[in-house]
Amino acid sequence: MSKYVSDFMAHVKAKNPSEPEFHQAVQEVVESLELVLEKYPEYRKAKILERIVEPERVIMFRVPWVDDQGEVQVNRGFRIQMNSAIGPYKGGLRFHPSVTLGILKFLAFEQVFKNSLTTLPMGGGKGGSDFDPKGKSNNEVMRFCQSFMNELYRHIGPDTDVPAGDIGVGGREIGYLFGEYKKLRNEFTGVFTGKGLNWGGSLIRPEATGYGAVYFAAEMLGTRNQTLEGKTCLVSGSGNVAQFTVQKILDLGGKAVTLSDSNGYIYDPEGIDRKKLQFAMDLKNVRRGRIQEYANEFKSATYTPLDPKADHNPLWNHKADCAFPSATQNEINGKDAQNLLKNGVYVVSEGANMPTVIEGVNIFLDAKILYGPGKAANAGGVSTSGLEMSQNSMRLPWTREEVDARLHQIMKNIHKTCVTVAERFGTPGNYVNGANIGGFLKVADAMMDQGVV
Ligand code: NDP
Repeated sequence: MSKYVSDFMAHVKAKNPSEPEFHQAVQEVVESLELVLEKYPEYRKAKILERIVEPERVIMFRVPWVDDQGEVQVNRGFRIQMNSAIGPYKGGLRFHPSVTLGILKFLAFEQVFKNSLTTLPMGGGKGGSDFDPKGKSNNEVMRFCQSFMNELYRHIGPDTDVPAGDIGVGGREIGYLFGEYKKLRNEFTGVFTGKGLNWGGSLIRPEATGYGAVYFAAEMLGTRNQTLEGKTCLVSGSGNVAQFTVQKILDLGGKAVTLSDSNGYIYDPEGIDRKKLQFAMDLKNVRRGRIQEYANEFKSATYTPLDPKADHNPLWNHKADCAFPSATQNEINGKDAQNLLKNGVYVVSEGANMPTVIEGVNIFLDAKILYGPGKAANAGGVSTSGLEMSQNSMRLPWTREEVDARLHQIMKNIHKTCVTVAERFGTPGNYVNGANIGGFLKVADAMMDQGVV
């Protein structure tokens, strides 16, 4: 780490104590941006970096609700409005017990660069709550969502801040949140993305993050004149991103052999075919069960429970060509990164946000594998959210084929930006630098144009 980066990080850590994930996200970006600040000292003079790590606004609020037993429950709600230099704040809501201010700040920070890379006019934000939807009845989830929106509605709007889903926030939660917003505001506007198809949603939005991560992997493979055909793929998670990652891998002739949840993972060496994927989707989206049931249903699969004391995750220790981490942050540590390389993996396309620790990122970069960081590889979701906003503004829905073609083109453009920018700054093949610098330049120039605000 250079003196500039270590001084800057000391300042960030002192100002934002006890937020390790935020420090990690900032450090990864600042290491890339050193190359830019050397070349363009005007950014340093305008303190763009110091400003970009400071959220424009943080909203924290009480979310009280009554459970099915009549007990009062109290959760904490957040919205981080990180940067609006190039458009309204845009980014998902996460409902998970692990949610803290620091987690949401890291996600909002990543979102600023990701949204810039999509080429669409969207600023960066993120929000959520430490509420756990797992094990709650539909009525409990609805009462929680209504209470959450009772505060959030005053801070969002179609030209101000447009939330979407993330971990624990799918179609059901967006429906309850949007319903309450509409009642409080008495207006039907595109204030959320990921909406239901018959009330303003876009075709392909549910599929977009997973499809996008696979399109990005295909682009990376294309630089070596290869395709996904016949490739064995490790996928983590079993939620929205993981499910549609597996679907697109199948479409492109690859074979996915793993899925996981927070209790453990399944390994199915025969491959997760369309019938098995349908079972997993029904299990997770309708019955809201655990991934272990997959191994009870299909004898070709084995289930391994998560061992929280283990120094590595055995999911990443199987022979494969590609890995699609699609569960959560820091799910690949240094040892996992080494195991992936040892098992032949040379393509990593991150569906999740920051799933690899910095040590793991450096292992991938040193090995010169095709490593697509989340900011670029999972930008398909927010891109299609941007397309949903366009359709809402026009009041005109596009066909499935049209949205998918636009998504595919956006992922190709993001890939091209990463490759071109990495080359321009003297680090060819380094998608981390390509994504961080490519995302930064557009936001930084807008901030320069708009003065010190
Ligand atoms: P879902 O809630 O649909 O699924 C999340 C999956 O990850 C579940 O299988 C969940 O298991 C598992 N998981 C969550 N937390 C943990 C944990 N701490 N340890 C182990 N497993 C865990 O979320 P998404 O699929 O939407 O999101 C997955 C990732 O993709 C996140 O990092 C998210 O930020 C990122 N992302 C999502 C986008 C989207 O459009 N949805 C867009 C861009 C990025 P369990 O069932 O046990 O909870």
